[in-house]
Amino acid sequence: MENVMEKLVALCKRRGFVFPSSEIYGGINACWDYGPMGTRLKNNIKTSWMNAMTRLREDVVPLDAAILMHPRVWEASGHLTEFTDPLIDCRHCKTRFRADDLDFDPTLPDAQCPKCGMRGTFTEPRRFNLMFKTFMGPVEDTANVIYIRPETAQGIYVNFDNVRVSARKKLPFGIAQIGKAFRNEITPGNFIFRTREFEQMEMQYFIKPGENAKWFEYWKEQRMNWNLALGIDPQRLRFHDHAPDELAHYARAASDIQFQFGFGTDPWHELEGIHDRGEYDLSHHQEFSGKKLEYFDEASRERYIPNIIETSAGCDRTLLMILIDGYREEEIKGEKRVFLGLHPRIAPLKAAIFPLVKKEGMPEIARRIYEELMQRFDVVYDEGGSIGRRYARMDEVGTPFCLTVDGQTLTDQTVTIRYRDTLEQERCAIDRLRERLGELIAGA
Ligand code: ATP
Repeated sequence: MENVMEKLVALCKRRGFVFPSSEIYGGINACWDYGPMGTRLKNNIKTSWMNAMTRLREDVVPLDAAILMHPRVWEASGHLTEFTDPLIDCRHCKTRFRADDLDFDPTLPDAQCPKCGMRGTFTEPRRFNLMFKTFMGPVEDTANVIYIRPETAQGIYVNFDNVRVSARKKLPFGIAQIGKAFRNEITPGNFIFRTREFEQMEMQYFIKPGENAKWFEYWKEQRMNWNLALGIDPQRLRFHDHAPDELAHYARAASDIQFQFGFGTDPWHELEGIHDRGEYDLSHHQEFSGKKLEYFDEASRERYIPNIIETSAGCDRTLLMILIDGYREEEIKGEKRVFLGLHPRIAPLKAAIFPLVKKEGMPEIARRIYEELMQRFDVVYDEGGSIGRRYARMDEVGTPFCLTVDGQTLTDQTVTIRYRDTLEQERCAIDRLRERLGELIAGA
């Protein structure tokens, strides 16, 4: 598996999915830039999530809140005191660990460092706050400290009333948001799995107290279905329900959707979390802000603080899952082929258009097709190199269909459509291509 990850990191660089950040300066630890293919793939993931969460349902609306928030927000949320990881160092080899990541108790006198093998060399665990701090305004003193948000959720809670009133929503309803979050992680790594800057896709669903179990189960199922609809192998997805001692400070119940990423001693890791947060968030913001965040329920004539069910996914982690799950190597007639079996709906490009050769008017026809199809789909035109190499490039970025203008096109106005996964080909009339491509993507 480590092997697949290495191959993926190389493929991502070669084909423009992900580059190390600031690479010409030697890079910066755990920061990555998305290239042309990665940006398209990420946008497709975000659009798919927003569509499923808001456009295709009446009860959830979108929001885009600021990254910088009033410092009191992080007091109310508990992040200032609770958002810490236990940090531990080996005094001998200087390796730093998250104490809760180790599968033994590092405070025991003869605990052994998994890196250098020495015993009794660990420091005491120290609590380390993961929030990045900076200053607002020109004066760098404690009065001006602000935090760079470590999650997008708080922007939703503080806007609960603004959204409820302006969108004229009654409970139950949700607010969905995609945005950057920043955490000064102690042990970032595994490519884009754990980074210090990442993007979250979070939804907070406001409900009547007492209906928590029902909505918690409902959202678990919805979120699993969304991940499955990305075309992910169902055998590699599962729920992990948190035991009471695993729960975060705000949670009454929590379940992670895990994907079998493959790295580490346990290959299963969290992809996203579904949490029953009870009334924790709105009651704390009510207390700290002094603003009433109660809801008057016209049906039952009751006044109460809404409870919240949260679904919190990482966009970068979802993208990594899609790459790992889609990575394929096969050998056909002694030739090795690498391709990404991405679902056509999220593939960065839906089709590539090639002239078989650069003569006999084929490039002109292919360009006309390209200009027509680009109105509706993400497509690319390529006339560089042998047709085999052009197919290989498209296979590596997961383009599901390649359209080739060849000798027959000149006589009957049809082109070949080559399928990435099966390598089968069909012929299609040029004037039906737009419709046919739409059918192939929708039917996949
Ligand atoms: P972990 O235990 O892995 O640190 P968490 O339980 O703190 O994660 P949440 O706070 O629930 O994670 O965040 C929700 C989602 O945001 C995670 O499921 C993950 O997909 C994503 N996420 C969190 N931290 C990171 C990170 N450092 N890099 C990339 N994605 C992240």
